[in-house]
Amino acid sequence: RKAAAKAAAHQESRTADGTRIEVFGNVGSLNDALAAAANGAEGSGLLRTEFLFLERKTPPDEDEQARQYQAIASALDGRPLIIRTLDVGGDKAAPYLPIPAEENPALGLRGVRVSLWRPHLLKTQLRAILRVKPLGQCRIMVPMIASLDELRAVRAVLEEAKRELEITERVELGVMIETPAAAVTADLLAAEADFLSIGTNDLTQYVLAMDRGNPELAARIDALHPAVLRMIAQTCAGAARHHRWVGVCGGLASDLVAVPVLLGLGVTELSATAATVPEVKALVRALDVPACQALARQALDQTSPEAVRDLCKTFRAKVG
Ligand code: PEP
Ligand code: MG
Repeated sequence: RKAAAKAAAHQESRTADGTRIEVFGNVGSLNDALAAAANGAEGSGLLRTEFLFLERKTPPDEDEQARQYQAIASALDGRPLIIRTLDVGGDKAAPYLPIPAEENPALGLRGVRVSLWRPHLLKTQLRAILRVKPLGQCRIMVPMIASLDELRAVRAVLEEAKRELEITERVELGVMIETPAAAVTADLLAAEADFLSIGTNDLTQYVLAMDRGNPELAARIDALHPAVLRMIAQTCAGAARHHRWVGVCGGLASDLVAVPVLLGLGVTELSATAATVPEVKALVRALDVPACQALARQALDQTSPEAVRDLCKTFRAKVG
């Protein structure tokens, strides 16, 4: 099956009943972008920009960032590139970001909170992204959003950067859904965000109140927990009210057992690891959305992640 998936990897991704599902690749370097494109990714739903910022004494300046983003955009050959603004925090500190010691770094100054704490860093990053040609290939995505005010504050900095660069075209600005607050207020966020992309790694950590890095808990941290699925369902419902699309860029998008239930909940973009893209595309091609919706309804009523996983495995075995 892997060989067949590879052969069909470069076709546009649609379900058997014709629903367009974008299958993108996650990227953390130029090499990842090349691998994603070679594997048939239709774009990137997540460029983690931390690789440019960590393990150095000073932050990358605008020119350096613009060069790196341009190289990655060019490697994707015009396909959409969703660039996530810097997502660092107390656990991934840099010398030029002296975040005070925190007892709970996962609940501390991180993601968009850092960007708004040091807005000049954010502005530099946004200006670098805006300089990538062709304009519009890059979309901007904000991590760790917990309230609409944060999106508004980022948009204000984006508007300032656009004015400075004399850019009048629309540039898409989306939010990551990684906190329970964002999931349950997805309708409010969707009124002002161009798209929503679910970071299932963090969303699971925060919904279950289980540290994603704790090896003792690893076996129990499953994004197919019904509580997480209900958050995803609520996100999709909120987004639909404003006709926004919802993607998944967390690990669940690379989990073939989970893909049908995600489509059934209303997700229309999956950003997987480059290596998984061909198989995700092949699976999407074999799926019918109404059957996925029936699966999703059942999954939401299960009482444990194990029960959801069994249900999803049985479904997938039938799809073949
Ligand atoms: C996530 O939290 O699911 C995500 C995609 O972001 P990261 O894994 O980089 O925190
Ligand atoms: Mg995250």
